[in-house]
Amino acid sequence: MSEQLQAIRGMNDVLPAEIGAWQHFETCTRDLLTSYGYEEIRVPIVERTELFKRAIGEHTDVVGKEMYTFTDRGGDSLTLRPEATAGIARALISNGMLRGARHKLWCIGPMFRHETPQAGRYRQFWQVDVEAVGCAGPDVDAELIALGTRLWQRLGISGLRLEINSLGTPESRREYRARLTEYLRRHESILDADSQRRLTANPLRILDSKNPQMQELIRGAPELTEHLDAESRQHFETLCATLRGIGVDFTINPRLVRGLDYYNRTVFEWITQSTGAQNAVCSGGRYDGLIAQLGGDATPAIGFAMGVERLVALLSAAGRLPAPAHPDLFVVVSGEQVAGRALELVEGLRSARPRLRIELNLGGGNFKAQFRRADKSGAPLALIVGEDELARGVVAMKPLREQSGQSECPVGELAPAVDAALALLARPGSAPAG
Ligand code: ATP
Ligand code: MG
Repeated sequence: MSEQLQAIRGMNDVLPAEIGAWQHFETCTRDLLTSYGYEEIRVPIVERTELFKRAIGEHTDVVGKEMYTFTDRGGDSLTLRPEATAGIARALISNGMLRGARHKLWCIGPMFRHETPQAGRYRQFWQVDVEAVGCAGPDVDAELIALGTRLWQRLGISGLRLEINSLGTPESRREYRARLTEYLRRHESILDADSQRRLTANPLRILDSKNPQMQELIRGAPELTEHLDAESRQHFETLCATLRGIGVDFTINPRLVRGLDYYNRTVFEWITQSTGAQNAVCSGGRYDGLIAQLGGDATPAIGFAMGVERLVALLSAAGRLPAPAHPDLFVVVSGEQVAGRALELVEGLRSARPRLRIELNLGGGNFKAQFRRADKSGAPLALIVGEDELARGVVAMKPLREQSGQSECPVGELAPAVDAALALLARPGSAPAG
């Protein structure tokens, strides 16, 4: 016997039972983004490895150990995208969309990182990515954060904490890096293995460590805020004041550094207590230098990415999902001889009433089995297409959740008859749904 094929570890199927929550999340998100003037962009899942190395940084965890990289048949090194910003920046450059233009873009899709799979952390995971390109802020920073805050409200997700920080300019970061390295070297003996490795390559990342044993050391570290240049400080203060003005709650976390190298100035993250260790549900920041670094016209930009699995889990836990949809009509077919005629009627009804959800019994089955399926479908009304009735030019209709009896209608008046029957069943006081 052949071995059973398994999904790849950390790569999940989203099954029909879960898809309602995903679709609700996607619809709310798309509607809100559209209302803020964001346009959707779709970029390839695969890009040249070089793009991610240059954009994200060689010494980040993502590039250093998490990328799915392979050589294609033409000999090029390609990578499954670990995040979307680099690809969007590349798309803006390669499609000649910059030259001082502004773009508000969003994108949804799977990302790939070879991490240790656990609840809320996967190797293929979905992100909604939102990017505002062409504005130096801080007004755009504030509006982007307001958008995120409004989305959680609309979705009914509470208990998220917004943390923000400023990384300043690359120069202020360099200065800070030297001070931080000095501090960490003094405590080298208590650094965990990961942090020892990061000490020379990327010491700021040590502040991002999830190891509880490292937290005390991190708390005692010097703060980047003290090294901010005057302009970055002004930018940050205006952002904070604007957020206060529009009633967005936030905490300043001077140790929020973010894991990708391209960020400068504003960085932020929404964090939940409820998904355990995987607590970041949405993270982002400003990346004013990235586009020029990739060879495009120097263009300031800011963006964030939401972790869809983590947000869908919160959404499901909050129980704020719309009830699953059921068909309006289940069509029972009495006798294989009339199956063709039944489909013909149903297709006619679909043309006449495009919004109606119709489930036609397929694959035969006796009356009892078909009515069992009809009940299970949740449809309020059954249509019965039978040989005898068809011979008389009629079909039968039967409410499925009420005791009221069967009725008949002429085949030629099917659509209005279905409308009337459904309207009657939807009346307040008629049998409750489900
Ligand atoms: P974390 O600190 O949890 O590793 P990150 O800083 O690596 O997150 P980003 O690269 O900023 O995350 O990605 C944005 C969002 O994508 C995160 O806030 C998180 O919700 C989600 N995310 C990141 N990595 C994963 C993953 N492996 N599985 C599921 N969701 C993820
Ligand atoms: Mg990560």
